[in-house]
Amino acid sequence: MAYQYKVWIADGKEHFEYGNKQKKKKDLPFGTSLMELLYLDAWAYGELFDGIGKAIMDLYSSKEQRYADEVVAALDMVVPKHIYFELLRLEWQERLGQAKRQNYENIVDLLPHKELTHIPSNLHTMQEQIKTLFAHVLDLDTSPKESVQKKMVRYYNYRGSDRLNTFQFQPQPMSFEVIDRKTFTEVLYPKNIYDIIDYFVRECVKREHPMRICKNCGRYFAISGRTDAEYCNRSIDDKGRTCKDMGAINLWNEKRKDDEVFKVYRREYKKRFGWIKAGKIEQEDFYAWSEKAREEKARCDSGEISLQEFTEWLGR
Ligand SMILES: [Zn+2]
Repeated sequence: MAYQYKVWIADGKEHFEYGNKQKKKKDLPFGTSLMELLYLDAWAYGELFDGIGKAIMDLYSSKEQRYADEVVAALDMVVPKHIYFELLRLEWQERLGQAKRQNYENIVDLLPHKELTHIPSNLHTMQEQIKTLFAHVLDLDTSPKESVQKKMVRYYNYRGSDRLNTFQFQPQPMSFEVIDRKTFTEVLYPKNIYDIIDYFVRECVKREHPMRICKNCGRYFAISGRTDAEYCNRSIDDKGRTCKDMGAINLWNEKRKDDEVFKVYRREYKKRFGWIKAGKIEQEDFYAWSEKAREEKARCDSGEISLQEFTEWLGR
């Protein structure tokens, strides 16, 4: 194999090192790449992978270089979408290089086109399986309050044989070695992108990493630090604001609304209280009104009626 792709975890970060002669290095906070994969729109690449499959079949029959170039160009387009696809490109560049050296003769086994065309549906299946696994085992809100070990045993005893819906762990090509002359750790040498997914899912489980669905975007995020975190760090608009930022803004808006509701309520209350002294209404009428006003205020606080509606009610 002319290329290399290595994955390991150290100092709370996931590390990738890949390439042919020149190696690229990248590190991300632990859990980042798996979370990105979990919400990658796999179907959006369906057509692209179908196109690659078709180009490979054309290569089988025509043995023309331009179809190999087409495959490479299409893979170049998927690579920026996710770091795991770097492995896919390296692997297929090598296969295509070998195919070229044998003048595209007998290349059907060397270039299994279905391995590529099945990627979107395989990814989609795995995304759903991983979310289900998280919900049963690592999700702080939906999984039982007991050890991850116990939850894994129960889940796999009951659901492990459901190969469609339950994530299926596979044997992994692991090494154990010195990295950068300073860390001794387990290192994954993935055969394919599914090995990388498997590796990170099992690391989340082994590390008993708590997860939660973000209150703003509805996506899983790995909780680091405070377990009461409700929002993730994904940026959700072009200003680079994150769900956490939006959470703070929403909270502030809610508080501001509460203040506003209280203000209009108090103003009206004081006014009507003044009416008793002025002899405009009876004390009894005032208390009847204030009881009803408190009910309406509660409806407004809970969002059942708007501030506008509450203000109008008060003004009647
Ligand atoms: Zn979020």
